[in-house]
Amino acid sequence: MRKKHPYIKKSDKVVVLAGKEKGKIGTVLRIEKDMDCAVVEKVNMVKRHTRAGGKNAQGGIVEKEAPIHISNLMLVCSKCAEPSRLGIRILDDGSKVRVCKKCGELLDV
Ligand SMILES: [Zn+2]
Repeated sequence: MRKKHPYIKKSDKVVVLAGKEKGKIGTVLRIEKDMDCAVVEKVNMVKRHTRAGGKNAQGGIVEKEAPIHISNLMLVCSKCAEPSRLGIRILDDGSKVRVCKKCGELLDV
């Protein structure tokens, strides 16, 4: 069974835990669910060569974020501003919310 990573979502602030971008903080632009990866703003930039023509009038080198595996990311709590592990709490109405294990605040309310 594939391990699920339900904890990081789009628009979250995350810190990079490993690799050459270690310690960088950015906002999640999108989640690549199939790969368990996230694309984080201004993190893990790669240069892409593009050809002139079509949409690109000039061609040349474009910098773009490459996906990072979610296991290399940790959420930065929006309440206490610390990189934090998350728990899940199930509310009375059955909805699941994420809880910061550092400060104990609910994050999705
Ligand atoms: Zn917190």
